[in-house]
Amino acid sequence: MENTLVIIGGGPAGLTAGIYALRAGIKTSIIEKTFPGGNMLLTEKIENYPGFPEGISGIELAENMRRQYLQFGGELINGEVKNISFEDNRKVVYLSDGSETKADAIIIASGSSKKKIGVEGEDKYTGRGVSFCAICDGALFKGKKVAVIGGGNSALEEAIYLTRYAERCYLVHRRDTFRASAYLQEKLKQYPLITLLLSRVVRKIEGDGEKVKALVLENKGTGAIETIEVDGVFISVGQRPNVDFINGKIEQNPSGYIITDYKMQTSINGVFACGDVIRKSLYQIITACSEGAIAATSAERYLSSQNI
Ligand code: NAP
Repeated sequence: MENTLVIIGGGPAGLTAGIYALRAGIKTSIIEKTFPGGNMLLTEKIENYPGFPEGISGIELAENMRRQYLQFGGELINGEVKNISFEDNRKVVYLSDGSETKADAIIIASGSSKKKIGVEGEDKYTGRGVSFCAICDGALFKGKKVAVIGGGNSALEEAIYLTRYAERCYLVHRRDTFRASAYLQEKLKQYPLITLLLSRVVRKIEGDGEKVKALVLENKGTGAIETIEVDGVFISVGQRPNVDFINGKIEQNPSGYIITDYKMQTSINGVFACGDVIRKSLYQIITACSEGAIAATSAERYLSSQNI
């Protein structure tokens, strides 16, 4: 009987794993809950993926990877994974619509999602001024004042992106130094529309009941409470792994990231993981792709050794 591999997640890690698995002759399905591409779809221009000296849009790179996967005969299943089980050598993936898919091996490439800051007004005004994606929602803030919260690569990229629409963009960070790369920090200086508000902790997002009106900050240096008028708040404070469906069945670190070895093997035999969902030192498209290739190759070896 033909070996079957199920890949959970269709971002760069999952799509690359799929391409490698298909080329190794393994029947492969990717289960993706939205559209293939993962967080690449939220990136306007990717400048650090080799082979594209002028940069490439996230949507285009995602579409190229999707086409390449389908070209080798891969199956794409639209669905949300709710649970997984492992009995003997047979693994089962359960979807939220009640259906289930059996597999001989599984690769988890479910990526990560944006974290919240947990302040008053954040949930209430999400979609009404509070956003987690500048590329998705930036155009709604033409001629308006916005704030971006965070000090990592994503926050700086989002602030820079928003200057094409907003009349003023506040970059609010809780420390006085950025975590973002030196390259982005240097690039930031070319955007006078961005006002840095450093050593500020967000205390509250205020609105009129319908829309965001202001951001209440605490100045960590002086202890003063400051209120700035804004129409939009873009929260960009990092990611958390998409692991709800694992239900504690696979070893994870205290932050929830899946622990793998150098072959992308998890604590369960025949279950591999790759991309932003695993514990690692560098979260990039290039590392996700490379881990996807390793996971698929390990899955191929596992399947041949099991003689499934
Ligand atoms: P990140 O690097 O983890 O940065 C998160 C930022 O949010 C940090 O500055 C952190 O502050 C701040 N923060 C966290 N929790 C907060 C809270 N509750 N309130 C206020 N601020 C909070 O996350 P990211 O920027 O989303 O990037 C995720 C990964 O993707 C990183 O590895 C990054 O390098 C990568 N990435 C790369 C690129 C690129 O290469 N062009 C682009 C985007 C993302 P502290 O610094 O004080 O902890």
